[in-house]
Amino acid sequence: MKIGIIGGGASGAFLAIRLKESNPSFEVSIIERNDKLLKKILVTGNGRCNYANTGELDNKYNNKLANELLNEFTPQDIIRVFDSYGIHPYAIDNLIYPVSLNAQTVAIQLIKKIESLGIKVYLNEKVIDYQKEDSKFIVKSENSEHVFDKLVVSAGGCSYPQLGTDGTSLNMLQRHGYKIETLSPTLSPLKVKENTKKISGQRQKGKVSLFKDNKLIYQEEGEILFKDDGLSGIVMLNISSMINRLKDKNNIKIVLDLANTNKKINKDQYIEYVSPKIADYLLVNNLDIQNLSFTFKDFYDYQIAEVSHGGLSLSEINDSLESKKEKDLYFTGEVLDIDGMCGGYNLMFAFASAEKVKKAIKE
Ligand SMILES: Cc1cc2nc3c(=O)[nH]c(=O)nc-3n(C[C@H](O)[C@H](O)[C@H](O)COP(=O)(O)OP(=O)(O)OC[C@H]3O[C@@H](n4cnc5c(N)ncnc54)[C@H](O)[C@@H]3O)c2cc1C
Repeated sequence: MKIGIIGGGASGAFLAIRLKESNPSFEVSIIERNDKLLKKILVTGNGRCNYANTGELDNKYNNKLANELLNEFTPQDIIRVFDSYGIHPYAIDNLIYPVSLNAQTVAIQLIKKIESLGIKVYLNEKVIDYQKEDSKFIVKSENSEHVFDKLVVSAGGCSYPQLGTDGTSLNMLQRHGYKIETLSPTLSPLKVKENTKKISGQRQKGKVSLFKDNKLIYQEEGEILFKDDGLSGIVMLNISSMINRLKDKNNIKIVLDLANTNKKINKDQYIEYVSPKIADYLLVNNLDIQNLSFTFKDFYDYQIAEVSHGGLSLSEINDSLESKKEKDLYFTGEVLDIDGMCGGYNLMFAFASAEKVKKAIKE
């Protein structure tokens, strides 16, 4: 059986390996537009690749399908399989990295596995379309054509277009009549209406509360990085994930408590809790250190956002992540309308969705 995978990123590369391991007679091919496989893996986790998380899964994804897949192929399974590929785990709290703390280890070991299993890899080939004739898929790239019995779209979303994921595969699916849920940058810093230029570059620990129509919907503690026109830091990326889950993006407030104590802090004590620059900003503008409110304006664009929210509608797929209207066409990873918070959740979904498709094809 010939299986084609469009996209040699996290989910596509992992799927190719798992398929070939499950049945060496499968002829597995990856078609990748970049000159190398797994380019995005190298920038994940600040170059360290946070590939799993052993903590709670509740509320980490925009859709519970991710939780279901991770109950079948668990974080521990991912860690075990990676370990067997020579990617040994190193835990920082619940966050799992390769012991080298270097994302290159992950890319090198997976590529080594792909080579040793004899998986065909076509690089520098951007897929522009596919066609189903009889029961075969004819996949057209800019420079070639391939024929497969089964096809998997593992081409990612729209974030980091500089690494090959510019949403062209979603456009292709839309042309084929598939429903694409509205796309938007997520795990992104937040642009706010207020002027933050005076404290741009300042970092400060604090408690962040997200309010929609004055109702508290999410709270997290962490480091806030002030930007020229907004707020960043991991906590803000997670806040962006929660904002993306809201249909109506009006009247959203991000409220910071920069002292994070139960005591009431007087103005003359501000300097005990924040840098002189932030204290000055608060005092000059008559702002409350324990209730510093910003109004959400927008996300930063896909060049900066780590993930894209939206994508192929889950109404288009069955339980095996197979298209409901085109048999033998499957989807994995970020191309689907599933996104998770920071902390390894997006890569875990990429691997768990690949495992699901492997099982479906194998059976
Ligand atoms: C800066 C950054 C840091 C991140 N850090 C983490 C982290 O630490 N932990 C975590 O869990 N997640 C992290 N993520 C998110 C994670 O990398 C992605 O969610 C994950 O890689 C998605 O896997 P995927 O296989 O769906 O897509 P991708 O890994 O994006 O792979 C898709 C592949 O398809 C190729 N492709 C696209 N279109 C075509 C086409 N038409 N023809 C041929 N090939 C095509 C692309 O070139 C790409 O190689 C990070 C993302 C970024 C950008």
